[in-house]
Amino acid sequence: MTFRTAPRALATATAAMLALAGAAGCATDDAAGNDPERVDVVAGFYPLQFLAERIGGDAVAVTNLARPGAEPHDLELNPRQVGQIVDAELIVYLHGFQPAVDAAIEQNGGDRAFDVAAVQPLLDATAGGHDHDHGAEDDHAEEESDGAKDPHVWLDPTRLATIGDKLAERLAAADPDRASEYPQRAAALRAELERLDTEFTEGLKTCQRREIVVSHTAFGYLAQRYQLEQIGITGLSPEDEPSPQRLATVTEEAREHGATTIFFETLVSPKVAETIAREVGAQTAVLDPLEGLSADNGGDYLSVMRTNLQTLRTALSCS
Ligand SMILES: [Zn+2]
Ligand SMILES: [Zn+2]
Repeated sequence: MTFRTAPRALATATAAMLALAGAAGCATDDAAGNDPERVDVVAGFYPLQFLAERIGGDAVAVTNLARPGAEPHDLELNPRQVGQIVDAELIVYLHGFQPAVDAAIEQNGGDRAFDVAAVQPLLDATAGGHDHDHGAEDDHAEEESDGAKDPHVWLDPTRLATIGDKLAERLAAADPDRASEYPQRAAALRAELERLDTEFTEGLKTCQRREIVVSHTAFGYLAQRYQLEQIGITGLSPEDEPSPQRLATVTEEAREHGATTIFFETLVSPKVAETIAREVGAQTAVLDPLEGLSADNGGDYLSVMRTNLQTLRTALSCS
């Protein structure tokens, strides 16, 4: 995992904190949030917003820190967003995914933070990777070890359901008057996520290929759950530039496994995926890691995942 952006993000958060401290003297007293009837929840990025909205229903007001259409890994917080974290009754985030959010919560989160990584154990960065040995040149399995964790846990619907159950407990504790509502909605969501899981299991049961060449290694949990092999062009963070050597390795892998499709993401430039696709005579297609919805996407977690399933079934020639 990279912390390349952490110092800058920390500086931004700190500056924002100072600005906020300066303004606090004349701020009105609305620390309990804007809507007294609802629990004010701040979510770090889209899948956590989805969980909070589905489980909170109309008992919560959810703010997503990541803008629609923006890649959330390298999110930087402006003073208004730091203010939202300060004012929130519950902050739902994933420690290790967004350094700026981690920093702001460390300074201001107190006991209002709900860390997804604390309720659902994360896989090591290399787990779910493509680690069979083609020979001396095949070194991608050794990248990104050193105890780094893979944050992309939401791409396993069953793990997301478990996180939802824990979030329901937390919301119930924060809102005792409506405590019984949250587990009910979490159970309804769990049923939908388990249906999605069954569709993936069935849909990917019999396929001619199981290797997926993806733009960044966001699909470790999906790969582990449905027995796919992930070959990432870049690492766990989409901002990393792949080295020429890495590009050569991935191109070789794509050829060797007869990949017909190189996957790219909605929120990241498709250029590198297109280059590899041209090189090996494959197509490109979107496999959405759901880190955020694209700005014009009318769907939600469930519909985007179903589109992903159809894309995978076509690319892998599943019957
Ligand atoms: Zn990612
Ligand atoms: Zn291989």
